[in-house]
Amino acid sequence: MKVIKIEKSQWSPGLEKLRGAFRLIGPVKEKTWHDFQELAAGQMPDLAFQNTRLSPKSLVFPQSEIMLDYSLDKKDPDCNIPKMAEKDYSPRAVIGIRPCDAKALALVKMNFDTDEYQDPYWLNLYNATTFVGLACDAPCSTCFCTSTGCGPYHEEGLDVLLAEREDHFVAKVLTDKGARLMDSAGWSTALPDAAVLDQAKSAAEGKIVSKIETDGLAAADTMALHGADFWEDISFACINCGTCTFSCPTCWCFDIQDETYGKKGVRMRNWDSCMFPIFTVHTTGHNPRDTKLARLRQRFMHKLKYFVDKYDKGIMCVGCGRCVRQCPVNIDIRNISKLMNNLASEARCAVQGS
Ligand code: SF4
Ligand code: SF4
Repeated sequence: MKVIKIEKSQWSPGLEKLRGAFRLIGPVKEKTWHDFQELAAGQMPDLAFQNTRLSPKSLVFPQSEIMLDYSLDKKDPDCNIPKMAEKDYSPRAVIGIRPCDAKALALVKMNFDTDEYQDPYWLNLYNATTFVGLACDAPCSTCFCTSTGCGPYHEEGLDVLLAEREDHFVAKVLTDKGARLMDSAGWSTALPDAAVLDQAKSAAEGKIVSKIETDGLAAADTMALHGADFWEDISFACINCGTCTFSCPTCWCFDIQDETYGKKGVRMRNWDSCMFPIFTVHTTGHNPRDTKLARLRQRFMHKLKYFVDKYDKGIMCVGCGRCVRQCPVNIDIRNISKLMNNLASEARCAVQGS
């Protein structure tokens, strides 16, 4: 793997060269927060941020997208034949995605790219994208990525990992896609001492003091967790606003609906949330998750137990801390995981003591 030095004087000219081969997307400041947007000609990504307010999941999983077009006009030879909507899948480069968000996309890919089903909309956008990550040297106090199998210099899901220094960037090229991007930008000066990245990685990891406890989750009894008393207390404050799910890079609930205008229509996919009361309403009117306790429990059981059991790849959370920072009533996944973990340890102790 090559490690390349990019002088800051070569940063903007390199990005401008990239525009010949890629559409550029990067963090842009809006009011007091940053979010990812397509960068207009001459516009540079604003890298002076800790993390974006919303995760970049919408880049591969838009909040609202047309899946199919159809015609109901009997005179139309394609009447009643749904057609896949035409979209722009030209190459794109996302500059400045944080390592936690790139790992989140890799986790979500397990759901959208299985042996049985491949979601063409998600995968076409994912495959068209080159991900240039930005290491975190100043993580938020609410980040706990190091205890989720991730970290401020984590490489999973990235094509290039960048670390910013005063007058240059250090770029670790991780994939062939990443190498093509570096060639297109004309960045090729090898860094003589690549070990600087390892030292920076250790220093950045040392700054993450917040943790999530997960070691007992895999062995925990699912039904005991499901029936635990603590869900009543935790769910009391929840207002089912869905902020946690919409801001989370690893949440993927969606809803599909047809919208017909006269004799033409489209099939839409829109983000939805397991926290919303009507998400699970059946056509019969029955709702298997008709209380907020049931909905809140589903969100955390999915992330911390069902996903763990199904994939054996850890929890469905990368520790970005967005839900912790943005929940209006301070519901904190770290506290919930601790309760779940403690219940599992208490059950183990009771069995050993009996
Ligand atoms: S952000 Fe907080 S209050 Fe809103 S749905 Fe999530 S847990 Fe409930
Ligand atoms: S559950 Fe919370 S901390 Fe974990 S990835 Fe989602 S938003 Fe980030």
